[in-house]
Amino acid sequence: MIGWPVEHSVSPEMMKAAFQQMGLDAAYMRFPVRPGSLEAAVSGLLALGASGANVTIPYKQEAYRMCTELTEEARLVGAVNTLRFDSDRSAIYGHNTDVAGWWESVRQYAAPTVQRVTLLGAGGAARAVLAALALHLPGIRVQIAARRTEAIRTLAEDFGEYLDIVPVAWTDLEKSIEHSQWVVQCTPIGMWPNVDDSPVTDARCFRSGQFVQDLIYRPSPTKFLGQAAEQGCRVQDGLEMLVQQGARALSWWTGQAAPAEAMRVAARNALRHL
Ligand code: NAP
Repeated sequence: MIGWPVEHSVSPEMMKAAFQQMGLDAAYMRFPVRPGSLEAAVSGLLALGASGANVTIPYKQEAYRMCTELTEEARLVGAVNTLRFDSDRSAIYGHNTDVAGWWESVRQYAAPTVQRVTLLGAGGAARAVLAALALHLPGIRVQIAARRTEAIRTLAEDFGEYLDIVPVAWTDLEKSIEHSQWVVQCTPIGMWPNVDDSPVTDARCFRSGQFVQDLIYRPSPTKFLGQAAEQGCRVQDGLEMLVQQGARALSWWTGQAAPAEAMRVAARNALRHL
């Protein structure tokens, strides 16, 4: 795993549990890569004969530009979170497993009645969610609330062909939540250690029956998810997305089914000990 910082990731524990269960003689390590050093880091992995890598903040877009082959999901998002290397080291394949990982985490809630979704935030995770919605629920209305209108405009340009994108001013996010069936929180607001923060001030914007997800998994629940649960919403934290994106990365590297349950248990345990 390469990123900056990567110290707090639970992916190594999750992958180690999976390798054990699959009987694979493999290792997965965190490598903090200093800003400006991504190319050197990837060349190093290639030279050392690594099979692949996960890429995290802030390198998902820069890594995308280094790939020689890209999957459809990676192209849609314009970023990669998973790299695979050829045994002769001539190619760098790029994939984005956040797209299918997110969809797998929510798909059981996707009744045909889902027509309006509110996304909070317009960064990399929001792009992965939009790509999944474009693939699985094309044409639905997606209201994006973000503090930078130009970030929403870029998303509307990239995904407007597949989804009915409606920009929402950050100050109007509660109004947008009120009129949505799904709400997906894609900002770092409320993430450890800022556990008392929430994008929502008046929790009465939530309605019983709504599905509300926060992509954050530390803490769980976030203040935001607690507010939604109190109003009778079905809520989910980001752990299932983490597990599902990791399981897909592992399958893509090995060609084998990944043991999601063992990965889920290992991630939960690792989070408890952080
Ligand atoms: P990102 O690319 O940095 O985007 C963050 C977004 O949140 C941007 O739109 C940013 O706005 C907005 N934002 C940040 N602080 C804000 C604030 N105080 N008020 C209003 N908006 C704010 O990050 P990302 O990769 O999308 O990640 C977002 C969250 O999702 C993180 O908490 C990350 O841990 C989580 N995540 C979870 C998973 C999982 O597997 N569960 C996967 C990916 C990401 P500006 O552009 O204006 O700064």
